[in-house]
Amino acid sequence: MGRVRASPMTETTMKILDRTLELDTALRAVARACHATMAVRKGIAGAFAGTIVKEDKSPVTVADFAAQAVVASSLEHAFGDDPLVGEESSDSLRDPAQSGTLARVVAAVREATGQPVGESVVLEWLDRGNARGDTQRYWVLDPVDGTKGFLRGGQYAVALALIEDGEPTVAVLGCPAYEAAGLAIPGLLLAARRGQGAFEVPLHGFATATRRPLRVDRSRAASACRMCESVESGHTDQSASERIVRELGLTGDALRMDSQAKYAAVARGDADLYLRLPTRKDYREKVWDHAAGALVLQEALGTVTDVDGAPLDFRHGTTLQQNRGVIASACAEHARIVDAVRRAIG
Ligand code: AMP
Ligand code: MG
Repeated sequence: MGRVRASPMTETTMKILDRTLELDTALRAVARACHATMAVRKGIAGAFAGTIVKEDKSPVTVADFAAQAVVASSLEHAFGDDPLVGEESSDSLRDPAQSGTLARVVAAVREATGQPVGESVVLEWLDRGNARGDTQRYWVLDPVDGTKGFLRGGQYAVALALIEDGEPTVAVLGCPAYEAAGLAIPGLLLAARRGQGAFEVPLHGFATATRRPLRVDRSRAASACRMCESVESGHTDQSASERIVRELGLTGDALRMDSQAKYAAVARGDADLYLRLPTRKDYREKVWDHAAGALVLQEALGTVTDVDGAPLDFRHGTTLQQNRGVIASACAEHARIVDAVRRAIG
């Protein structure tokens, strides 16, 4: 049976850090960025018109740029010296051919921040996200995780985490399209501080709403677990996951959704297992695709490892160089799942 190694116990893990100001700043920043993305999505024709295809062929929209600028401005205000590792850069927006997209980004940022800023300030905010993740403390941001889901009308997430000594210590996951019982309007914020648990709060009215603690139900047998995975077959090996579901005898319907909303689904009990199985040998997961979601789930007492059962290692800059894929679960039998994955993918 495969062993699941515990995460490395550094000083950061052992000391309980307060980080109230960081958490409150991150909640406000992510909420504002979520509202910016929702405004862009409402005028979805505009979002499509502003879609740029990046070098790796992935799309980036007005919403991605606006959300990164909005979060960067909030962090600059509260923690001016903290570096930010953001997924986006201003390079393509500086191309004169993209002046129409830049104008839409500026309009979205003005609306979200209430500040009459110009192009140069917005581009500077965007470029605050150019850090490489090689300092003791820095923030990691995916301004729109699951851009394909955003464009398709599916799930997406604004994901922000603070990394200290190579470990996520504060996380906020904004899921503007998440529908949950008791929500009049879709949208959730899930948040965590290392050693202090995780909670969720409705996105709309989050500042005054009650924070609901998140704690997974680990008593479910693996056979009763529901698996979730990417919609995109290029991001996870869906035929391997089908074999694993069969081998483990999972009875629940598999769920496909975009973005780190999958971590949210497991943390709140809408799914029990998130499989992300490598489709290419050379692909390394990006830190912004996992830092926030993984901390939220771990603080909700879930387990997060790579496909070999090793903890995610955030000490290597912008990629999870030492890891392959991800297995995130609410199951006490995580090690059994790791074994099944190992057999299925060889
Ligand atoms: P998801 O919405 O879970 O499918 O994940 C979206 C993320 O997948 C994007 O933010 C990309 O960074 C990431 N991605 C791109 N290519 C790959 C790949 N080959 N394997 C795994 N993830 C990828
Ligand atoms: Mg992403």
